[in-house]
Amino acid sequence: MRDYESFPPLEVIAAQGSRLHLAGGRTLIDAISSWWCKNLGHGHPRLRAALSRQMDRFEHVILANTTNEVIVSLSERLAALAPGLNHVFYAGDGSTAVEVAAKMALHAKKIQGGGESRFLALENGYHGETALTLALGDLGLYREAYREILPPVSFLRGLPYVDSDTHPLWSDCSEAWPALERQLQANLAGLCAVVVEPILQGAGGMRFYSADFLRRLRAWTKQHGVYLIADEILSGFGRTGTMLACEHAGIVPDLVCVSKGLTAGWLAMSAVLVPDAIYDLFYAGYGEGRDFLHSNTYAGNALAAAVALETLNVYRDEDILGQVHRGQPELRAAMERVAAATGCLKNVRCLGAVAAAELTGPGTGQGKRAGFRVYQEAVARGALLRTLGDTVYWLLPLNAESGVLAELEGITTQAIQAVLKA
Ligand SMILES: *Cc1c(COP(=O)(O)O)cnc(C)c1O
Repeated sequence: MRDYESFPPLEVIAAQGSRLHLAGGRTLIDAISSWWCKNLGHGHPRLRAALSRQMDRFEHVILANTTNEVIVSLSERLAALAPGLNHVFYAGDGSTAVEVAAKMALHAKKIQGGGESRFLALENGYHGETALTLALGDLGLYREAYREILPPVSFLRGLPYVDSDTHPLWSDCSEAWPALERQLQANLAGLCAVVVEPILQGAGGMRFYSADFLRRLRAWTKQHGVYLIADEILSGFGRTGTMLACEHAGIVPDLVCVSKGLTAGWLAMSAVLVPDAIYDLFYAGYGEGRDFLHSNTYAGNALAAAVALETLNVYRDEDILGQVHRGQPELRAAMERVAAATGCLKNVRCLGAVAAAELTGPGTGQGKRAGFRVYQEAVARGALLRTLGDTVYWLLPLNAESGVLAELEGITTQAIQAVLKA
């Protein structure tokens, strides 16, 4: 709050594509897709038209006991994202989707009579801001103040992190696996589910980990009857180059949570993809403790659903995954040029439409706020380049206009130089 005294909030008056327009006439590149959700940039005309068509019909009607064409089409399209995940549960935001998935897993275990109730998650993971999802996250900063109300969760440590999909560990993590498997075995008693951000961990520092690890984790959870919950809220909808990040490992989890990219950041909506096996458990009996009684006021909101459905159409018609795929080499090269030009970045990494690195050298580290100062310098030069501690990252819209990346590269280089070479 106090930072606003010296660095007032930016007044946005319009936004188009990758750019934000500010009062006073300046424009900024939205280098982080406005908290990672504006996958198709700002103001996409087809999404605006879809929203406006739906506004002419109706905006929001309770989804319990009602149906409509848009929600049916959207559900069919979402059910086709992962083989076997044939059912869709709607919620309002990302945190709630993870909360729903965790509750569903716990409840499903109870119905089956085992009653396993513990959760295991990954180091550096982040899953949202509700008490349960904070507990599933490994970020002390976010959770510490609420410790007393968080259920105990164990974390798997020593993940095989990689800098790209060509890193040796990406397709073979056999050396790291035994230590990870030992931790899994030690946590097996009473274990209900393992919760992961597949491949890409966002809030924990824009890290990528081995696809082979995810494949092995899926095999282990299947073997031991433990649910695997994939939080694809950031990684889904093409951010890592595939529609779902789980596809990198060729796996299908038990439950998948999507949100951010689902409506391309137009309206709050989330969904949990559910397999027949879990759906059927809840199907049977009214009054037998088998009802999944979770309802959010705005679940399946008609305006959000209309935009989500059109988002999927745009992905198809504009070959968004192809754009990500073709852009990846240049994205990495650009971040590597920033590292070379400044000499102040280490651990450069890139996958899909995400590139990241850590600031390094004198002036960085605990308490120096180098990341925050780079952010300020970048804003002064024309990019909303938010940092995570000392981690600098680019997370542009997947369809960023040509020229935007080159401009962002220049701004990032200058901003880092201004802070660390002064
Ligand atoms: C953003 C995010 C969430 C939380 O979503 P909200 O809509 O902010 O509640 C959960 N998990 C991951 C991986 C996210 O990136």
